[in-house]
Amino acid sequence: MLQLKSIGKSFGATVVLKDISLNVGRGEFISLLGPSGCGKTTLLRIVAGLESLSMGRVFIGGRDVTDRDASQRDIAMVFQSYALYPHKSVGENIAFPIRMHAPWQAAIPLFGSLTPAGKALKKEIEIRVPKVAHALGLGELVHRRPAQLSGGQKQRVALARALVRDPLLFLMDEPLSNLDAALRAEMRSEIMELHRKTGCTFIYVTHDQTEAMTMSQRIVLLDKGSIRQAGTPLELYDNPNNLFTASFIGSPKLNVLPYQHSPGVVRLNGCLMRSLEAHETAAHLKEKAASVGLRAEAMKLCAPAHADAIHCRVRLIEQMGNETVVFVETDAMPGSRLAVRVARSEGNVLSEGEVLALRPEWSRALFFDVGGDRVRLRNVRRQAFLEAA
Ligand code: ATP
Repeated sequence: MLQLKSIGKSFGATVVLKDISLNVGRGEFISLLGPSGCGKTTLLRIVAGLESLSMGRVFIGGRDVTDRDASQRDIAMVFQSYALYPHKSVGENIAFPIRMHAPWQAAIPLFGSLTPAGKALKKEIEIRVPKVAHALGLGELVHRRPAQLSGGQKQRVALARALVRDPLLFLMDEPLSNLDAALRAEMRSEIMELHRKTGCTFIYVTHDQTEAMTMSQRIVLLDKGSIRQAGTPLELYDNPNNLFTASFIGSPKLNVLPYQHSPGVVRLNGCLMRSLEAHETAAHLKEKAASVGLRAEAMKLCAPAHADAIHCRVRLIEQMGNETVVFVETDAMPGSRLAVRVARSEGNVLSEGEVLALRPEWSRALFFDVGGDRVRLRNVRRQAFLEAA
């Protein structure tokens, strides 16, 4: 459906996008995710035809549209601000793009509605507007003005207005960032439902990894104008290619610790890790690894005498209801704060200042080299390694 070939973009001497290539399938829901300033909006605007590119080609539905402007690309776009016409009703706001694309005869004052084009326009509006309004739960609200709507309802009108013409591609740029947390969560499921109902191809820009993880089928993670990794949300979470991806995806953030190796033993910044010691895997890691990443759920409570125990003090407790995220500090790693996920079913009642022992679950550890690239353990070695852990 959408093909980007080696897209590059510079504003003067500032390079904003570097060699971006991407294929998006028909009906796919992808998120462009990344920190502020990484180039997400610029890339979306290039797809929309609202921004010129310095290099590369854009194909939509198999057609090279690089030199075509936005109105010739059959796309719809929704931005952070919903910009509804305040003096028009919800129904008229939704109908607006249909009117805009109608033949000029339909717009002749007074007589336009009597022309064949005017009659066809009226019919199209009567069919399409109630359909899309209904799909977005706005059926009862078509006669209201925007001022009489809640924030979530206004955002739904903006979505309906964008979708009313059955676009080939539906582009959204942080459409939920003006809403409060509860409404954002509600709108997330509504947008997913909308994607399911319309079968349209969705491209969604966000800097919020939770939005990208929960809504999209595939995430394209950008950093400083380059794609760092593209894949399903779980591929990025479980199998990151680099430290940037591993740290950006997931909440609480990945625990990243320096990885040290000294003769005979493997040390995790001062903590002796006996279970790694004897294995050839250790030699592989010794050569390459500079840091180890452990997700909050890969840190387990253990007996203080356990060979791998890291002795910690609880600094902060975040109660999530079904689970608790505990932030701990350890003398072995001064200055670093580790996040640990503790299930409520484990019956642990922890309090701030409490001393506890944790052990890394080595089978889930992610190792990275000095440049932040993943150090992968070869299968055989990994197996031996897992058995030891
Ligand atoms: P955010 O999440 O903050 O919106 P983003 O990832 O969408 O960020 P872009 O808006 O695409 O980032 O901007 C990427 C870079 O390009 C930024 O450094 C920005 O300052 C720069 N930039 C964007 N538009 C222009 C412009 N018209 N002229 C010069 N620089 C620009």
